[in-house]
Amino acid sequence: MTVDEIITQLQSFVGAENIEIGREQLEESSIDLYRKWEQAQHEFNQITPPIAIVYITNVAQVQQVLRFADENKLNVIPRTGGSDIERGLETGGKEPHFILDGSRMNQILKVDPTNMQVTVEAGVSLQVLEDNLNKMGYTTGHSPQSKPITQIGGLIATRSIGQYSTLYGGIEDMVAGLAGVLPDGTTFDIKPIPRRAAGPDIRQIFIGSEGTIAFITQATLKMHTWQPDNNIYLGWAFDDLAAGFKILRDVMVAGYRPSMARVYEAGDAALHFADFVHEQHVLLFMAEGPANIAQATADGIRAIVAANAGFTEFPGQHVKDWLDHLNWDNKRVNDERIYFAKTHQVGYTTEIAAGWSEIVPLFMSVQTRVMQEVAGMIGISGHSSHQYINGTNMYFIYGYWMDKVNATEITVHDQINRIIVEETLKHAGTIVHHHGIGKARAPYIQEEYGTSYPVLKKLLQAFDPHNTMNAGSIIPIDLWNKSDQ
Ligand SMILES: Cc1cc2nc3c(=O)[nH]c(=O)nc-3n(C[C@H](O)[C@H](O)[C@H](O)COP(=O)(O)OP(=O)(O)OC[C@H]3O[C@@H](n4cnc5c(N)ncnc54)[C@H](O)[C@@H]3O)c2cc1C
Repeated sequence: MTVDEIITQLQSFVGAENIEIGREQLEESSIDLYRKWEQAQHEFNQITPPIAIVYITNVAQVQQVLRFADENKLNVIPRTGGSDIERGLETGGKEPHFILDGSRMNQILKVDPTNMQVTVEAGVSLQVLEDNLNKMGYTTGHSPQSKPITQIGGLIATRSIGQYSTLYGGIEDMVAGLAGVLPDGTTFDIKPIPRRAAGPDIRQIFIGSEGTIAFITQATLKMHTWQPDNNIYLGWAFDDLAAGFKILRDVMVAGYRPSMARVYEAGDAALHFADFVHEQHVLLFMAEGPANIAQATADGIRAIVAANAGFTEFPGQHVKDWLDHLNWDNKRVNDERIYFAKTHQVGYTTEIAAGWSEIVPLFMSVQTRVMQEVAGMIGISGHSSHQYINGTNMYFIYGYWMDKVNATEITVHDQINRIIVEETLKHAGTIVHHHGIGKARAPYIQEEYGTSYPVLKKLLQAFDPHNTMNAGSIIPIDLWNKSDQ
């Protein structure tokens, strides 16, 4: 089939007004925020652009488009908010490909205060949803830093997590039910329930599937009472990184559940708290919920910190002011691009997770290796922002000078990612905590999964035998085609 024939067919499903084939739009849609320098330079020559962006407005259209793609061995890349930063929106090498964009399916369908749940279409903006729910006194509890950009489909497909996860959990704890379309056009609707034990939880098959086995069209999320007036913010500066992680662990082990609990290593702290902390690490908490619980949580945390020497408290208002301005909208993404183009400095993030015993040595070895092995580095630092009873995450943040690296953006970015992956695996951690594996870390999927890799591969291939959906994300195409016998 020629590209023109494919586009004509797609137009017959969704209408010409819902197909974009402008060169500029296709080039912009060929990459995501893994390639920030290329975006800043308007250099779209590394990756094959999609042949079209197809905006769907109802489930029947998704069915038609997916069935057509499956029958004709095309490659469909689902998209909603477009804030992916792991090459999840790039082609993995199977051509031709097109973007299937759900952002025009954006209705809040039902708010159900009795059962404390809300049903939305995949293209609903999380910011819009939260603004609406907050007015009614509710929240989903989900607040990723990219909240103003993201939409429900992508949030579920990436297994995203928000700033208040230590209380509310990740998206996997929030999805009560979800609906979607499989590559052969079959629809499914998993009814929203509090819990069930009728076999495996099939919601979880789609949460984190990164557009590789289904197009998510709708979801029902749990709601919680929104009571921001009860929030209590706490912050300390300190010198011994391991002591800060010990506090995070002690708080979790003692049974407290602050919504936010973080440690910033000094390098990262300098980027956020320079007005009131100098060359020290930072420990932060936010307690929320009913007033008596928020107070008891804050009192308990204070007592744990007080039992350790070397922590200097600063006003909670500083924490609130910082948190109120932490989120990124499209303007901020664009401003960063302009800054990169002007200064030739670029910056990225990579997030992993590991047990309490491993996180500090892991962080130190990544920092040492990156600074020794990668030319042109400005620096590498990081913070821990999501706490669990058995460990924590590390959100590495790093930058380099494009003028000094003597290589392409992606070569250096990949090199740093490889070091982080190697050290994380050495320390028995997971190489992806919340951004999704995309195509950036897909080459390490077998090492990540070990002997459970065949289970993952069988699962994905059972749903998408022709590799029609986001080919190359999660499992690279060469591994997908390779026999594991
Ligand atoms: C500044 C910034 C801050 C960020 N902070 C966070 C954070 O705090 N927490 C966090 O978890 N992530 C964060 N991210 C990463 C990103 O925002 C998340 O991965 C988010 O969940 C992506 O949602 P989206 O709607 O933008 O999805 P998209 O970028 O459109 O897509 C992401 C992935 O999901 C798939 N997909 C999209 N829609 C569908 C659908 N309807 N059906 C099936 N598959 C689909 C795509 O194919 C792709 O693989 C951040 C990103 C940026 C740029």
